[in-house]
Amino acid sequence: MTRLCRFNDNRLGLVEGDRVFDVTPALDVLPAVRWPVPAVDLLIAHLAPVLARAAALRAGAASLAVADVRFLSPVANPPKVIAAPVNYLKHQAEAIADGGRNFARDVKTIEQYGLFLKSSTSVIGTGEAVPIAFPERRTDHEIELVVVIGKGGRAIARDDALAHVAGYALGLDITVRGPEDRSLRKSLDGFSVIGPWLVTADAVPDPDALALRLDVNGAPRQRANTRDLIFDVRRLIEYASTFYTLNAGDVLFTGTPEGVGPIAPGDLMRYEIEQIGAAETRVVAAG
Ligand code: MN
Repeated sequence: MTRLCRFNDNRLGLVEGDRVFDVTPALDVLPAVRWPVPAVDLLIAHLAPVLARAAALRAGAASLAVADVRFLSPVANPPKVIAAPVNYLKHQAEAIADGGRNFARDVKTIEQYGLFLKSSTSVIGTGEAVPIAFPERRTDHEIELVVVIGKGGRAIARDDALAHVAGYALGLDITVRGPEDRSLRKSLDGFSVIGPWLVTADAVPDPDALALRLDVNGAPRQRANTRDLIFDVRRLIEYASTFYTLNAGDVLFTGTPEGVGPIAPGDLMRYEIEQIGAAETRVVAAG
């Protein structure tokens, strides 16, 4: 079980308890690449040799307090950011009850919507801040379990799906409400928060039984469990891979449960997923 992070000025770290061990020289095992670069995240595509080198470096590594480092996304260059809409029954119900007022569209099911893609430029780490670009519109938090694909493929069978997972992370799928396509409203800079670290898949035997929670300024907003996913993690991988070829480093936002709500500059989101970790992320004004 390993918690691997990218922090500060693109340092590589192993997280143990409340310490981050700097194992940046493990990146030396990554191959040099030339244009056209492969459509993978280089670290995730070579995760096993990086982890082996990192483990060897651990004994002599300097460490910092978790509280003192700035976590960047553990996946630096995801080839695709795939996301699931309305994938919890109670969130589907709250979206329907809202009558389209904030969602401004008929609410369908994940079977009808399928999946959508977010821009890779929307990805930040939990130690960065979410910028609000349209303060006159409602912008919502959505906590989600993020799955990081380790082994690519297409038409992946449900029973093989978890063998394609490198690990898991916390995710925030930040959203401007309104009538435009999801791929526009959810792709602003800083709208895909991933981290604080990658927990390797061996540490999470059942991703479909994890409690998740999110508070804003100390007030509870979202409380749920991934057991209530409509498409569970295996189904999402199977389904996504029938449309997209999955590559190492693709990230999959699995959908948000009920309790989504607005955020504004100055807010502090604190969020946690069982067996993965906890994080705090600040909301700021853009620009
Ligand atoms: Mn979402």
